[in-house]
Amino acid sequence: MNNPRTALVIGGGIAGPVTAMALQRAGLDATVHEAQDESAGLAHGVYLTVAVNGIAALRAIDAHRTVTDHGFPTGKIEFASGTGRHLATVPNGMALPDGTVTRTLLRSDLYGAITAEATRRGIRTEHGKRLVDAAPTPSGGVLARFADGTTAEADLLIGADGIHSRVRRLIDPNAPGPRYTGLGNTGGFARVEGITGTPGAYHMVFGKRCFFGYTIAPDGQVWWFGNPPRPTEIPREQLAATTAGQWRTMMLDLYRDDNSPATAIVAASEPFKVFNQYDLPTVPVWHRGPMIIVGDAAHAVAPSSGQGASMAAEDAVTLAKCLRDLPTTEAAFTAYERLRRERVQRVVAHGSRGSGSKQVGPIGRAIRDAVLPVVMKRMARPDALNSLSWLFDHRTDWDSPVRA
Ligand SMILES: Cc1cc2nc3c(=O)[nH]c(=O)nc-3n(C[C@H](O)[C@H](O)[C@H](O)COP(=O)(O)OP(=O)(O)OC[C@H]3O[C@@H](n4cnc5c(N)ncnc54)[C@H](O)[C@@H]3O)c2cc1C
Repeated sequence: MNNPRTALVIGGGIAGPVTAMALQRAGLDATVHEAQDESAGLAHGVYLTVAVNGIAALRAIDAHRTVTDHGFPTGKIEFASGTGRHLATVPNGMALPDGTVTRTLLRSDLYGAITAEATRRGIRTEHGKRLVDAAPTPSGGVLARFADGTTAEADLLIGADGIHSRVRRLIDPNAPGPRYTGLGNTGGFARVEGITGTPGAYHMVFGKRCFFGYTIAPDGQVWWFGNPPRPTEIPREQLAATTAGQWRTMMLDLYRDDNSPATAIVAASEPFKVFNQYDLPTVPVWHRGPMIIVGDAAHAVAPSSGQGASMAAEDAVTLAKCLRDLPTTEAAFTAYERLRRERVQRVVAHGSRGSGSKQVGPIGRAIRDAVLPVVMKRMARPDALNSLSWLFDHRTDWDSPVRA
């Protein structure tokens, strides 16, 4: 279609409202359709980090304060082994020119702030709209059908509907589904006497049997996470039937041999649950006709990379720029894929390597523990930090033109 003017954005998580705001800047009228009620998207993961590259992408459309007004700076990571040995301190991305570093915030604060900012800009979000089907119309647009029996029509449909995306399957019925990473994911909040930590840092421990991470919020509360390794997914029924007390016992057992604050923190934690952790490495088809996918719907990064939200923001701004600068939907979608595919797949692979280092057996662990101090020392050197500049120093601006 030439010069699309309207868009249905499916999904009101991170990618959805940010895409809608970016499209508005590019002159398109976008409405967000979210399956859940107001509390959508808050169930998985209690908090997250937004990296400097993601904050920079949000800044391109003046939406960075949805992150920087909340949470707290977490600009470095201190790694230790399960024996208590300090391995290295590495930056969690380099600071932006104004000193802003990677931040950690409650997921609910981020979703709430992004949705509120979109609403303030006049973007409508319709809740309780679960997309079930969509098809191109003879006029070149697209008609969406929702589970409540309603329909909506626009020039474009953008699937920002997360890792279990319906739009992905509508675009390509053979599209792959999420891949289990071999790890669970859990975490929560605790108040623990006597736990010390470096302000503004994550402390990450390669425990003997389970990876552990924590940071201390400015109010003294400990925000922690863990990645219990497991060769196969925990069945859905077991996830539902396991009590908070059972999860706590399991995690305490996994950390009992480590010389780290893990057991004290887990013992004192508010109730928590364990989830299976997934990623989505390669989705061969991102767009068809007037439909395209962005964010986790197209490429989910393992949580350990701390990049999923940032990738969603980069996608959103890039897609809007392509639609702003190129004459047809087809040209814009093709340019978008050219600009994004290599980068996001590299980030997913990077996240996958991070997951792999957390799930080794006894022999792998012995090798890892021998090699880690050397690797970590190298990682802390300035030249090694440059080797991650492809990840953190990527900048998504608004003004530079996109060429076909
Ligand atoms: C435990 C955990 C920890 C994580 N930690 C981090 C971190 O520290 N840093 C980081 O950057 N990322 C992290 N991530 C990844 C991050 O959460 C995702 O990359 C990010 O949420 C992707 O945003 P999205 O908008 O694409 O998808 P989502 O945030 O999943 O939003 C998708 C939305 O679409 C809606 N939806 C789904 N289906 C439909 C439908 N059919 N119709 C209408 N609406 C629909 C959903 O309700 C949801 O609101 C973590 C993920 C997990 C699971």
